[in-house]
Amino acid sequence: MPDPGSTIPAVTLPFPRAVKYGPDDHAAVAALLDQGRLSDTGRGPTIAACEDAFAAATGTWHALSFNSGTAALQAALHAVGVTPDAGVAMSPLTWISAILVALHAGSYPVFSDVEPGSVNLDPAAVPAGCGAVLVTHAWGTPARMDALLAATDQPIVEDCSHAHGARYADRPLGSWGAAGCFSLMERKPVSAGEGGILTTNDRRVYERAMTVGHHPHRLAAELTQPDLLALTSTGLGYKTRMPTLAAAIAHTQLRALPARAVAAESNLAELTTALAATGAPIGAPVLAPGSVRGWYGTPLIISEPVTDPDTLYDALTAARLPVRRLYDDWLTSPLLADPALLRSAFPHLRHTPWTAPDPHAFPGYQQARRQTVLVKIPDVPAADYMHQVAAALTACLHHHV
Ligand SMILES: *Cc1c(COP(=O)(O)O)cnc(C)c1O
Repeated sequence: MPDPGSTIPAVTLPFPRAVKYGPDDHAAVAALLDQGRLSDTGRGPTIAACEDAFAAATGTWHALSFNSGTAALQAALHAVGVTPDAGVAMSPLTWISAILVALHAGSYPVFSDVEPGSVNLDPAAVPAGCGAVLVTHAWGTPARMDALLAATDQPIVEDCSHAHGARYADRPLGSWGAAGCFSLMERKPVSAGEGGILTTNDRRVYERAMTVGHHPHRLAAELTQPDLLALTSTGLGYKTRMPTLAAAIAHTQLRALPARAVAAESNLAELTTALAATGAPIGAPVLAPGSVRGWYGTPLIISEPVTDPDTLYDALTAARLPVRRLYDDWLTSPLLADPALLRSAFPHLRHTPWTAPDPHAFPGYQQARRQTVLVKIPDVPAADYMHQVAAALTACLHHHV
């Protein structure tokens, strides 16, 4: 019997990419080495320039740097005041550390479903009685922030780790909620090597987040809230500030983002136009007016049921398509499925109503897991490559959906 896979045209062109770190990064790093200033206990010039650039990019009053996105998220949840008495509502379709930060911050996750046909938290699924909502703009697709804000009176923390430069309804992501958090790890749309940024319009959130992981020098220079001043000499003892080398690189990489986003946007348009012409049952999520996506693997949604997602994924990789897998199903991981294991890692859990989630209780999440294909879109001009991707993707879907 002929192998049906053999009729699928593979992508032959190499994945188009430019050199990521250029002369600006080299110069910025060399300057810090020459000064012998790789760490600042206060808000030194390199840290300040990086934070100011993120505040400007998100249109927020404050940006606070951290050594990881996870640390920024933990500080944000602490800053908005989560407790063991009420959980943090979130979609399970996110990176695992964005789930476990609820536990690091002394609370616990309350899983809520993904909106059908989307990859983001369903505003209609936000439970009453949660203490905060953590919203991931998954793979750069802006969550429906207006509907989410209308669905709860609790603070919302945005996880913008895939969504640097993205907007929802004409407003930058990271400026909608009580706080926005950006990972700056190597593969994210803006890299510091490792790092994180918290953005907020709320001075109190900024200062409370600062007490978590910053040095007393910085607390002494910046704390103003009467009830936080008592923490000036100690902070809370985590050490999660950003090294200056990372801040310098984050700043130059943030400047390079707009040109990369323009190229990616035009490559995605080539792809979706070509897919529409072939009639393939797949497309990028349609964004609300005034919205701009971020670039961290672009989710394409298959509009028909997929019976065997693993076989489809194998066919996509065999055709050399630039796809990556969705996250593991964390709901079935030992840590989240076994309450004894989770309680032994996070003893405060015994003071919460935590029960292990039922993976079948989230049909929107399960649908997204089966019907989403993550495609890495090049951030340099690549029209010919995108046409090969469209042809191979169409053929794979024809055989496997
Ligand atoms: C990468 C990532 C994080 C964590 O960021 P780190 O910088 O790796 O700590 C959090 N949430 C999401 C959605 C991420 O992709």
